[in-house]
Amino acid sequence: MADTSIIEISRKAVEGNIGFLRDHLGERVKITSVVKSNAYGHGMEQYVPVAEGTGIDHFSVFSACEARRLKQITSPGTSIMIMGWLDDKDIEWAVRNEAEFFVFDLHRLKRVVELNERTAKPALVHLETETGMNRTGMKQSELRTAAEIISGERHAFELKGICTHLAGAESIANHVRIQKQISRFTRICNWFAERGLVPEYRHVASSAAALTYPSARFDMVRMGILQYGYWPSAETFIQYIGKKKDKDDPLNRVISWKSRIMSIRKVKRGEFISYGTIYLAQEDKKIAVIPVGYSHGYNRSLSNQGRVLINGNRVGVIGLVNMNMLIADVTQLPDVKVGDEVVLIGSQGDLTISVGSFSEFSNQLNYELLTRLPEAIPRFVVN
Ligand SMILES: *Cc1c(COP(=O)(O)O)cnc(C)c1O
Repeated sequence: MADTSIIEISRKAVEGNIGFLRDHLGERVKITSVVKSNAYGHGMEQYVPVAEGTGIDHFSVFSACEARRLKQITSPGTSIMIMGWLDDKDIEWAVRNEAEFFVFDLHRLKRVVELNERTAKPALVHLETETGMNRTGMKQSELRTAAEIISGERHAFELKGICTHLAGAESIANHVRIQKQISRFTRICNWFAERGLVPEYRHVASSAAALTYPSARFDMVRMGILQYGYWPSAETFIQYIGKKKDKDDPLNRVISWKSRIMSIRKVKRGEFISYGTIYLAQEDKKIAVIPVGYSHGYNRSLSNQGRVLINGNRVGVIGLVNMNMLIADVTQLPDVKVGDEVVLIGSQGDLTISVGSFSEFSNQLNYELLTRLPEAIPRFVVN
């Protein structure tokens, strides 16, 4: 293996997760698979074809740049939705390439109208409404103008969606705020319907709301973290599992991250290991050097804290995590040798290192850890 580490994507895990989500949500609710940030670190080029294989035909990204990349790998009938950034030039690209996009200000609508003289194609728009998140989304006065523009220029628009984003459905502490948002959103949709503007999809929910708030499912859910096998928060998991007889986690982690031992050596009792004085050998030690460091996405705060799997055993990371290397304590492993597999995330034998266990030590959200896995690490789909 030329690369210092590799990432594996499990097809079986994706199939299991999407199957579970479909069963749970029912036939009526469309799933858009959110694959922004390199498919949450899983690798867009690896993840998307696997998801398409399970029947997903709608994907969402943040930016036009990601949409262009996605367009290279999706099947002709598959839809692409841009939820965030696109500049004026990208709007033209989106219209010509039939990429759907969020509209959270009047500027984008006016651009579409101007463009339409050239493109003679309708823009596939999702009107994002402000319901209480206070981030992006149009307020009532803007929505009124938006409705006028769209009604006046019917040929320039196809109203694909009306949507909003919830301010933290993964935490019960936000319950009242979320409920308010859902009722506001319903009122807004009714207001549009009275004006003859009925979208193909009303959508509100990301992973947490899709599970916890059935009333937030509407016609489509924007499914991110769950499809990769992770819960949006511990609370979401507890709420879900609390109502079930079967307490097994229905999700399967999709990602594994593996490396190999680069070097092994013995260190005498009383010596410090690696930079500085953060790790003192209290006994004679055998250590394994692994060619993965913080520049590869292994957080420095896991110094003296992280765990890795070697030869079917869980062993500790000792000393500082360096830019390109970390050190594991293999004193207890008699047969360990250079080239042995090291699992940084995933399973070996009956043991598993979960992304969740990282978060406990590093205070990183599972979302953050995953999306920071560098794109340069090669990714492979396994069955
Ligand atoms: C990222 C994102 C999602 C998906 O969120 P998850 O919690 O990962 O399911 C949904 N909607 C929008 C607007 C997003 O930006």
